[in-house]
Amino acid sequence: MNTEQIKALDERYVLHTYGRTPFVLERGEGMYVYDTEGKAYLDFVAGIAVNALGHADPGVAGAIADQASQLIHVSNLYHTIPQAELAEMLVESSFADKVFFCNSGTESVEAAIKFARKWAKVTGDVARTEFVAFTEAFHGRTMGSLALTPRPHYQDPFRPLMPGVKFAAFNELEAAAEAIDANTCACIVEPLQGEGGVNPATESFLKALRDLCDEQNALLIFDEVQCGLGRTGTLWAHEPFDVTPDIMTLAKPLGGGLPIGATLMTQEVADVMAPGDHASTFAANPVVCAAAKEVFARISDPAFLERVRSVGDYLLNKLLMLQEKYDVIQEVRGRGLIVGVQTDIDVGPIVDACYEEGLLTVKAGDNVLRMVPPLIVEKEHVDEAIEIVDEAFATI
Ligand code: PLP
Repeated sequence: MNTEQIKALDERYVLHTYGRTPFVLERGEGMYVYDTEGKAYLDFVAGIAVNALGHADPGVAGAIADQASQLIHVSNLYHTIPQAELAEMLVESSFADKVFFCNSGTESVEAAIKFARKWAKVTGDVARTEFVAFTEAFHGRTMGSLALTPRPHYQDPFRPLMPGVKFAAFNELEAAAEAIDANTCACIVEPLQGEGGVNPATESFLKALRDLCDEQNALLIFDEVQCGLGRTGTLWAHEPFDVTPDIMTLAKPLGGGLPIGATLMTQEVADVMAPGDHASTFAANPVVCAAAKEVFARISDPAFLERVRSVGDYLLNKLLMLQEKYDVIQEVRGRGLIVGVQTDIDVGPIVDACYEEGLLTVKAGDNVLRMVPPLIVEKEHVDEAIEIVDEAFATI
């Protein structure tokens, strides 16, 4: 089948919930993906912050192949070796005491919502059912996580949503203090907002949320689905700050491209959950856990994280140089290898101009050009990408 025929099939049979680029991707290797015409693209999207080890990584592919020839799926009725070992790795490297596995970011948030609700019900009075989330947040698109994602475009077609959600201005202490009250069972925040435009939370904001939640006897949830697991140059995005959550949600890079989500929690939260309270058929099957163990072992290596910080700084500085050149660039921000270029234009044409020249980038909202390359990216790749972005801004 040629490219046009594949696109026609997709158009005819796949539900149109995605706006897609006009090429068909066929294979990948390291930092590059290739389309059906053989054209190479330098990948600064990484499947939206997923492919931390790049494409066709031999370690990940080998772990998947080895496990697939042994045991692919048995359900969560049974113990399996890779799941137990992955759980140990995640818990022993974090604030958490227990982990619940699921299949995606939105599911990890749904689990957090349920755990917080049950925790509040078991430990407090029944009125404490509300959630506090923040402006520009993105927590997912299933009914619970959608209710925590304040975008009319995403929410309005599906109202009524889960009730009892309040939104406060991100990074504004007073607004948070007003929103978190005796009815709050949990407050959820991304330590660095991804979809909302690459907006880092300040240390004082995260610390204030911890204090407010403690004062009101509410749980603090960090959504690290996009910013966690090495993306910001530390294993956890909240790590540089002296603050830990009660629950943390993870997903994107964990499975090396296979679907997995994880909701980590303290013992106090774990204590309220009982068999049957929550479950998933596919969650953390042996194959996805074998891949995740390989990913986690590599990205949690301090030398790997040091390199993420160093190449991330290099990328940020190169983009700051572009900011001096182009008036439409208002700000360049980010940490590690999640970087956003805030502009005063629609960045859609920039994204298009980049892929035409062989570079994949992605929007974060209408005005922010986002770069979330595989964490194995080298300075030479950054140079190659910057040249294309420079040209794209010059043309637009
Ligand atoms: N939470 C955050 C912070 C995200 O960035 C995303 C996805 O972009 C999600 C949750 C939802 O994850 P998924 O698309 O895997 O359901």
